[in-house]
Amino acid sequence: MATIAENIQEVHRRIAAACALAHRPVESVTLLAVSKTFPADAVREAFDAGERSFGENYVQEALDKMDALADLRGRLQWHLIGPLQSNKTRAVAESFDWVHTVDRLKIAQRLSEQRPASLPPLQLCLQVNISGEASKSGLTVDEVPEVARAVATLPRVRLRGLMAVPAPTVDAAAQRLPHARLCELLAGLQRDGLDVDTLSMGMTADLEAAIAEGATIVRVGTAIFGAR
Ligand SMILES: *Cc1c(COP(=O)(O)O)cnc(C)c1O
Repeated sequence: MATIAENIQEVHRRIAAACALAHRPVESVTLLAVSKTFPADAVREAFDAGERSFGENYVQEALDKMDALADLRGRLQWHLIGPLQSNKTRAVAESFDWVHTVDRLKIAQRLSEQRPASLPPLQLCLQVNISGEASKSGLTVDEVPEVARAVATLPRVRLRGLMAVPAPTVDAAAQRLPHARLCELLAGLQRDGLDVDTLSMGMTADLEAAIAEGATIVRVGTAIFGAR
């Protein structure tokens, strides 16, 4: 079985190939290593292989890993990519660097109020239900502009862009459609004058399609750490 370091090398090779096809510089895409359900030791292995950005879905699990990796504090960045309830915002505001899953103004307001003044602003993405699935969390496409304008005015957070988890499909052309839609939505915010630059989209199965449509952060778990 391949090691985590070998898997990371292979994911970077995929990212570089996708960037070359899209005529994009490879530095325009950041790999977010999604470590949910894997132990702190696996994060340390990825850190030793050069990774600095880690994605977690469950707040308590992430806090436990941060404790176990306290010696690395300040040298890696933690991104929350799972659903966030309002009773967990304080812990998140105090411990994370990014939240990708803001799906209502109220959550962003709480994060801004609770972000300690000693830390840099918390970096936020709005989660968009880009495939319009009834079961999925995230803002509808129509709700995004108004919420984005409001979040952009909050003092202790910085709105960076949009995040989506499109409905899975294996067809490469079909994979690109929701990613293209998210990219167009971000361009609309930029035309409105918002200073946003981040498209968090693409996972193990569809990172090539996401990069073709402008992803700046790809969130990859399985291809690095193995099946969950
Ligand atoms: C688990 C998860 C990922 C990683 O998915 P893989 O298919 O394992 O790469 C990315 N984004 C979100 C929101 C996730 O929950």
